Amino acid sequence: MKVVLSSINSKYIHSSLAVWYLYAAAKQAGMGRDVFVSETTINNTTEDIVADIASYSPDVIGFSTYIWNIEQVHKAAYTLKQIFPQVKIFLGGPEAGFDTDRLLEKDYVDFIIKGEGEGPFVRLLKSGFVDTDKKVIQGYCHEYVNPYTPEYLQRLKGRISYLETSRGCPFNCGFCLSGRDENVRFFDMETAKKNILLLASSGSKTIKFVDRTFNCNDKRAREILRFIAREREKGNIPEDVTFHCEVECDLFTKETLDFLKTLPKGMVQFEAGLQSFNIPTLQAVNRRTDMNRLVGNLKEIVSGHNIHLHIDLIAGLPYEDFVCFGQSFDQAYEIGANVIQLGFLKLLKGSTLEAEKEKYGYKYREYAPYQVISCDSISYYDLLELKKCEDAVERLYNSGKFPNTPTFIMKKTGLRPFEFFYSFGKYVFEQGIKSPSLEKYAATLFEFFSYTGKEELRDIMAVDRIITDNTGRLFAFSHIPDDNFKKVSAAIKTEKVKIFENQQKKAAGGKIGFAILYTTNQVVAADYTDLDPVSGIYNHKYIDFAKFLPENDL
Ligand code: SF4
Repeated sequence: MKVVLSSINSKYIHSSLAVWYLYAAAKQAGMGRDVFVSETTINNTTEDIVADIASYSPDVIGFSTYIWNIEQVHKAAYTLKQIFPQVKIFLGGPEAGFDTDRLLEKDYVDFIIKGEGEGPFVRLLKSGFVDTDKKVIQGYCHEYVNPYTPEYLQRLKGRISYLETSRGCPFNCGFCLSGRDENVRFFDMETAKKNILLLASSGSKTIKFVDRTFNCNDKRAREILRFIAREREKGNIPEDVTFHCEVECDLFTKETLDFLKTLPKGMVQFEAGLQSFNIPTLQAVNRRTDMNRLVGNLKEIVSGHNIHLHIDLIAGLPYEDFVCFGQSFDQAYEIGANVIQLGFLKLLKGSTLEAEKEKYGYKYREYAPYQVISCDSISYYDLLELKKCEDAVERLYNSGKFPNTPTFIMKKTGLRPFEFFYSFGKYVFEQGIKSPSLEKYAATLFEFFSYTGKEELRDIMAVDRIITDNTGRLFAFSHIPDDNFKKVSAAIKTEKVKIFENQQKKAAGGKIGFAILYTTNQVVAADYTDLDPVSGIYNHKYIDFAKFLPENDL
């Protein structure tokens, strides 16, 4: 009997662990030869996904389902049932765990494994998948299965790898499925440590902890991070491997915050959910966050400059209208995180908010990803307006390409952060500018805010370009023909003006970029061999312009 486990990932670089858990469980039970993993992505056509699965001539096909792939799963499963009428098709994963009756109505779905699949999958495999027709099989994993088989590891090079050291979440946020039973189980620490070393040597450069709240046990989180730091120091973990953790920052103790500051730059990235600053909103979604402590801890992490911090806000939550969301955004902006992700609420099947949809007047799309259309507190049109703000935040803030420009403009105009991003996002939309290049986007920003002072704005944008882009080329609108350019270039190349170590060699290899700043009579120079892994900014210095001129030019 041949069983194919299909993982339709959201991108090639992702490699969902779910199917690999089942594969490893089968191998552990001595039945690995019967099981095959088909990895494709949502960007593949249904024909390609089907062809890959069909190439194994399967008797049973299992799909791992999520909001991002469920539509493709339906199409692929339907087609495969046409090709192989005798094949048994089952679904697992978060999308299959709820709404099971509706899924079982589909002709092409034979059964569903709900919850943890390792145990039932092996049982069914041993029995030849008998007596499964139109059934929901409840899963529970009694014994930890290590998913890191050689077959999985060999596919990881250049991709993101995933590591689970705990399962479940002790919280129960209304919009999320992870904490539905408010139960968390921790896996063995020694196994976790071994797996960290295994993944770090697999060629994967980003290791993501899929623990729903990595630091729900503060001491344990510290132990794991301390282990990583020590092994890295010993040379057992390459320095270019980054560990990504989803954290609840209000849970960090003072001891952990102090410890975090000692971590090497760029070793860890944190993703912290804020969702909103509005207290009634947080109460409605059962977020028991201590906001003062949360903000204090987040600022503490930012002040260390060694951890890349990503924070999330969600638009469309109960009791938060357009104005209120803007206020939440302003408070989030003040924290100074590297990324502010502005998400839009999805009403996930099985979530508390979905069960309470009438209470809050939710209207939402019935198909994945179940995007909210409107609710009592926010209209469809206001959500559309927030999309314009989101676009500007992505391009001007999260891209890391404009580290100084937004602050400069806000200072000049007196605009609040939300007003700044929203007004520009709205302008871009009204101009009908779709998917602009960075050059076009920057030129539009310059034009829109040139009333704040063209010369100063040009200089700030020239700085941002030079310190974040290793081509050393300015945007066309900020390029000013100037004979002095050659003099500065020569002074850098000959080290007449010494700015960086090994400057001559770097300059000869095109590794130094510079721009003349006319409003301050300075030159900004960047060393493209020295990138800050947290901010994405190259090491740079400001030097008096006069220093670059031969004596008789002064
Ligand atoms: S949002 Fe985060 S903290 Fe809340 S239940 Fe989900 S995983 Fe847990």
